[in-house]
Amino acid sequence: MKTIVCVEPGRFEMREQDERAPGPGEALVRIRRVGICGTDYHAFRGNQPFFEYPRILGHELSGVVEALGEGTAGVAVGDRVAVVPYLECGVCIACRQGKPNCCTSLRVLGVHTDGGMRERLNVPADHLLAVNDLTLDQAATLEPLAIGAHAVRRSGLTAGETALVIGGGPIGLGVMAFAKAEGANVIAMEVSDERLALCAGWAKADYLVHAKREPADRIAELTGGDYPTVVFDATGNAQSMADAFRYVAHGGRLVYVGLVKSDIAFHDPEFHKRELTLMGSRNATKEDFARVMEAVRRGRIDAAGYITHRAPFADMIGEFERWLRPESKVVKAIVELQ
Ligand SMILES: [Zn+2]
Ligand SMILES: [Zn+2]
Repeated sequence: MKTIVCVEPGRFEMREQDERAPGPGEALVRIRRVGICGTDYHAFRGNQPFFEYPRILGHELSGVVEALGEGTAGVAVGDRVAVVPYLECGVCIACRQGKPNCCTSLRVLGVHTDGGMRERLNVPADHLLAVNDLTLDQAATLEPLAIGAHAVRRSGLTAGETALVIGGGPIGLGVMAFAKAEGANVIAMEVSDERLALCAGWAKADYLVHAKREPADRIAELTGGDYPTVVFDATGNAQSMADAFRYVAHGGRLVYVGLVKSDIAFHDPEFHKRELTLMGSRNATKEDFARVMEAVRRGRIDAAGYITHRAPFADMIGEFERWLRPESKVVKAIVELQ
């Protein structure tokens, strides 16, 4: 089968790879869609720390079950499926506490272990969700949306609260959409006007704040001086994450959804005077995927609506570098396989 391998930073190669039958507990999935996200761009550029090469990228996956190994349940041959790409150990302290998303030895397909940028992939069958009533595009966007849904669930957001979401990329958009679904008033903050338009249109954010135009004053004004009780940062930008402290209401929560590979410093009085709760939010669980599927089925979320770019598998290598350029204005790019 054909496989696209990221051989080293800056270089993909189309290779022929052997296939194998699914082992016990595994399903063989014919991959049909691969969503591309920030992690993939970082891996390609070589600035994803602890990333090993060669690596097959691809963790936002949908496809069709072609074969099942022994002892599988929940999916049948021919089912359209979405992949939950987080392979947890099942025995560590986090796994034992029902938090496999932050397993101590988590392996994410396409990141820590080879992913789905290939024609077929063996996956543990219990990491598949049958999605016969969704499109392949919708199924491949469940993963990034589930990350947003997880962050909202983790924050404990309730109806009537005001949430500020900083960053209007695919993850931030998902956070906004699920915060709206919880009945919150949502303020979207972004540096790009195009993305602010998506925050309003796709995610139905109530208010837009341009991050470069006195955001603190505008946020104070929008909340009658109270500030949002929950702030989500989905920028993956250390400066934004540090600045986010200033926008949280006294008694509020700050959730870091985006990840940055550096230190974040904060002034303790800003933290203490608010009795602020600072939370990390990592990946998602199968429950979050289920939540997203339900929202998509009910028409509450336009799962595939933020796909801006697509390419067939054979053209992916050429397109990828174009997608990296800011002027391409990619929100979500997706690779199609037959
Ligand atoms: Zn992703
Ligand atoms: Zn574990």
